[in-house]
Amino acid sequence: MVRPLAPGLILALAVCAATAAGTANPAEKSDYDFNAALIAGPVAQPAARRALVPIPRLGEWLEGAGSATPFTVERVGAVKSPAGKALVKAFAGRLPAAGLPAEGYLLEVGAAGAVVVAKDDAGALRAAQTLRQLPSEPGACPRLRVADWPDLKWRGLHVLDSGPDSLPRILRLIHEVLAREKCNVFIYEIDFNYRFDSHPEMAAPGGWTRTQVGELVRACAEEGIRLIPQINCLGHQGWGREDPGRLLTVHPEFEEIPDGKIPQTQTASGDFYCHSWCPRAPGCHQLVFDLADELLDAFQSDAFHVGMDEVFIIASDACPRCKGGNPAEILAKTLNEFHDHLKAKGRTMLMWGDRLLDGKATGYGDWDASTNGTAPAINMIPKDIVICDWHYDARDSYPSVGIFAKKGFQVWPTVYSSLRGARAFMAASLGKPKVLGVLTSIWIPADRMTVALLEEPPAQPRRRHGGGEAGISRTAATGLAEAWGGPEKERIAIRPEKPGFLDSVTVTMKPADRDAVIRYTLDGSLPGADSPRYTSPVRLETSATVTATVVRGKAVSLWTAERTYEKLVPREPDGAAAVTPGLNWAVYLSPEAGWERLPDFAKLTPDKSGTATVFDLAMAPRAENYGVVFTGFVEVPRDGLYVFTLSSDDGSRLMIGDQVVVNNDGLHQMEGVPGEIALKAGKHAVKVLFFQKEGGAELELAWEGPGIKKRREVPASAFWRP
Ligand SMILES: [Zn+2]
Repeated sequence: MVRPLAPGLILALAVCAATAAGTANPAEKSDYDFNAALIAGPVAQPAARRALVPIPRLGEWLEGAGSATPFTVERVGAVKSPAGKALVKAFAGRLPAAGLPAEGYLLEVGAAGAVVVAKDDAGALRAAQTLRQLPSEPGACPRLRVADWPDLKWRGLHVLDSGPDSLPRILRLIHEVLAREKCNVFIYEIDFNYRFDSHPEMAAPGGWTRTQVGELVRACAEEGIRLIPQINCLGHQGWGREDPGRLLTVHPEFEEIPDGKIPQTQTASGDFYCHSWCPRAPGCHQLVFDLADELLDAFQSDAFHVGMDEVFIIASDACPRCKGGNPAEILAKTLNEFHDHLKAKGRTMLMWGDRLLDGKATGYGDWDASTNGTAPAINMIPKDIVICDWHYDARDSYPSVGIFAKKGFQVWPTVYSSLRGARAFMAASLGKPKVLGVLTSIWIPADRMTVALLEEPPAQPRRRHGGGEAGISRTAATGLAEAWGGPEKERIAIRPEKPGFLDSVTVTMKPADRDAVIRYTLDGSLPGADSPRYTSPVRLETSATVTATVVRGKAVSLWTAERTYEKLVPREPDGAAAVTPGLNWAVYLSPEAGWERLPDFAKLTPDKSGTATVFDLAMAPRAENYGVVFTGFVEVPRDGLYVFTLSSDDGSRLMIGDQVVVNNDGLHQMEGVPGEIALKAGKHAVKVLFFQKEGGAELELAWEGPGIKKRREVPASAFWRP
């Protein structure tokens, strides 16, 4: 997908001007777990240095003010200008041995304008997208140079339709998020929400018009993004039994289960999931082909995504046409018909891969693989179908990638809400034969991603992804960023990792590049070329934030590493009078709806109370909807720094004296959270609060510290009560 260069650059510079005129820079509003420390330190950083998110993989801030115009582009291998030659020389030895890949670029913003050395047109556009993030008022632009290139070739986002009323938000998504993350494929699952001309009965009231889709086309072209429409075909018509979706509502004669009999082919759970159309229903496929042709025309796309995931109803006994048929043969015939239609029009076909995988043999089970007899279809379809192989959980291995590649298919691994799952899948498939890149899917309407990333105030840092639209959106953006530049690389490792210390702490800083010169500050400010140089470990005797960067001459790396150390004063013990072993507890019953967070127990009346030897839940009056508060003293053997890990299902909190040491609140599975506190030897007032809503209930407290080298459960002998 090579696009003309000029319009993108004009747009890039136009947006620069808007930024200079006072429009908020979207990059400043984003909230990225993976480099939060880099963009939002405790001390405010100059806007210019926060602007580049994600941070290009190589680059330096230079001294003095720069100018983004004029913008000059030269090609790798044909650099003639002195500025271009100097730029190439500045990165000598730091670029890939095989040269810059497609879309790669070098960029320098100098005093007299911006110089780009690009691999291709797309590389020049990527440079312009990076430049757009900088404040660009003439004379106020920071000077810098950047070298950047993608790890993966196809970096895609798949979204659900949010309707034409949300067009302004989708355009923001394209220009402000996808451009920033250097996404290059956008799969728009419009399904039947379009005002079709070819079959007026299928024209969706309030659906997209051709003109509105044209806005998407233009925005994607400007940002170097390949736009691909999708209709989910065959299965996944609507949701649940009550909603058969638009096609089967208008054309009930296409139903696979016309009389509503319980289908025999379903998920393991046996619940009704989604309707399917009958691939043997006369006229059905021809109608969908006509609709797909209209969409291809409106989207001006060279490819079409047919969906076809989670087809649980196929070859159903309830269908007079398909009864007794072979599911794999019926699926393969459908895929061949779609492929032939698209191929005749010169279009590439994409599909979800789950129905082509044997759920039992691969170990994937019956969602992201098939247990309903469709898997042998993998041997009956053309190899030029692009397989979007989706798996969302972190696994030890992903055999499907090799299976598809071995059969001759191009594979596009697809990830979703779990960042851990996304990283595991990407790591397992990166660089394998026939792997195209990564597709991040959000499974929420497109405009919600804009809201989550650009409109809602930044969320508090989260421990887990996967919860809610904000988490899903951040995971998708992080996946795209890492598909371009690889996972977070701490260019300077600052050790130790533990933030608290008692008397002093000795800090080391180790650069990834052994010969690099590190300069650092201890007050949270950004280090520059004149900051102290790191030559030997730094001893801290007071609290400090260590910020370090690599400096080459007067050039300061774009990457900054940071760690905060806090001097702790050990707490005096307060329980000398407690001589009875054990803990007191009080149990509370929640209202019928149950708690989702720890309540204010002080305002509630206990259901009953008693004593225990450790934090166990044996006293619980029922399996669900209750809370427990344990009180007493914990005795530590020596003065020092202790790490307590409180694990629970659902939420819990550990307090020593008035201090919250661990907050593990909220609804979750068994999960441990560590917390650190300095204590003097003796008995310290301890309180553990816990609540249980439904499902499993567990509570456990472990410690490590002076004399307790390896983390283990706090023994009963450490607990005392008044
Ligand atoms: Zn049928």
